[in-house]
Amino acid sequence: MAFRAVKGMNDILPDEVERWQFAEAAFRDAVRCHGYAEVRTPIVEPTALFVRSIGENTDVVDKEMYTFERHDDSLTLRPEGTAGAVRAYIERTTHAREPVSRWYYLGPMFRAERPQRGRYRQFYQAGCEVYGDKGPTADAEMITMLYDFFLSVGITGLDVKVNSLGGAVTRQRYHEALTEYFRPRLDQLSAHAQTRVEDNPLRILDSKDPKDQKAAEAAPSILDMLDETDRDHFSELCKSLDDLGTPYRVDSRLVRGLDYYTRTLFEIASTAGELGSQNALAGGGRYDNLVQALGGPSVPAIGFALGLERLILAIPAKPATSSSLCFFAPLGAAAARRSLVLARDLRRRGLVTEVDGRGGSLKSLLRRADALGARCAVVIGDSELAREAAIVKDLANHTQGLVNLSILAQFVEKLLKSAANQSSGEVN
Ligand code: AMP
Repeated sequence: MAFRAVKGMNDILPDEVERWQFAEAAFRDAVRCHGYAEVRTPIVEPTALFVRSIGENTDVVDKEMYTFERHDDSLTLRPEGTAGAVRAYIERTTHAREPVSRWYYLGPMFRAERPQRGRYRQFYQAGCEVYGDKGPTADAEMITMLYDFFLSVGITGLDVKVNSLGGAVTRQRYHEALTEYFRPRLDQLSAHAQTRVEDNPLRILDSKDPKDQKAAEAAPSILDMLDETDRDHFSELCKSLDDLGTPYRVDSRLVRGLDYYTRTLFEIASTAGELGSQNALAGGGRYDNLVQALGGPSVPAIGFALGLERLILAIPAKPATSSSLCFFAPLGAAAARRSLVLARDLRRRGLVTEVDGRGGSLKSLLRRADALGARCAVVIGDSELAREAAIVKDLANHTQGLVNLSILAQFVEKLLKSAANQSSGEVN
């Protein structure tokens, strides 16, 4: 029987991994220059951590967690990154060492959702958290960092939505107002939404079901219920975004799935690339009460997570760059041994080099060099060895020459570097 990967969980093979590495490196660069440092927390946490933070009546906790028992403990594969980060922040008494912490993370998350394009059961998120800064400037800076990051990797068609949920009291009042609004409209709602009216009516605003969307059209707006300090926070955020020139729109229906949010909420979507219907690239918001709710001090915080699979679907394919690979085609055992030594000299210069030691005909070796997209091939047979030389084939320009082995490394380095310069010139 042949094994298959678990449904909704994907292999990332070498031909795709370059895009991943590009996206990850771009993310790390973007956040590093805003003062973020990486945190790595376990993939498994106590189940109760997620129930307490994300909220009992959310889809994630309700039906999407991978939970298992081990040594009488209930453990869960993390469905998101914030809960574990907050747990670590509290456990290490980070707040006592620094007033503001800026953390980022990157890694796999697990949710048993219905798999489709852009929605998986194991997926990767990169995210940021700022602890200890309650001001709206932190919110505006974070949203703008994210927006600028997406632009920097070439994503177009960006749509930035912001909203405010107010503090815990406002949120509770809004919950009650929504329940009152939906109760007499039960028959206009989808079956799933009907079950949410009492325990989590905010989620109905999020529903993709056209029936729910229609029923919610005249629902009260959270923005009308904000108290004065919430309102000030939100208008300061909007002013800062205006100053920064970050385009956004206020969407009072934006609520998002997790229970811990307070005040600022945001989401960035894109119409670019191959995203399709799952076009939300990133989402986040403030969670000023979460650190305390999980047993820590009263420390305000804000964070976001972006989905790396969706990011990669949205990044435009780069024009093919000319390769800087040097391929060795030794003909015979003595030439293969010598090739290893020569290849090591090239690698010590930082050049990407592959030695094909399988033997076989020159024709088949060169076919492989072509398939790899090599820039040059170094051919060494017995007669070349006897002359302490190799044939270097420039595979891009279809020229070749005999090069003395004593200067082979310098020769190939020059050739490959000229190829790299040409290609970066083409891309920029
Ligand atoms: P969330 O943690 O639900 O706020 O999601 C933040 C971002 O993570 C989304 O905007 C998506 O880009 C990504 N994301 C969430 N769930 C999935 C999933 N099941 N598969 C792939 N990406 C996801």
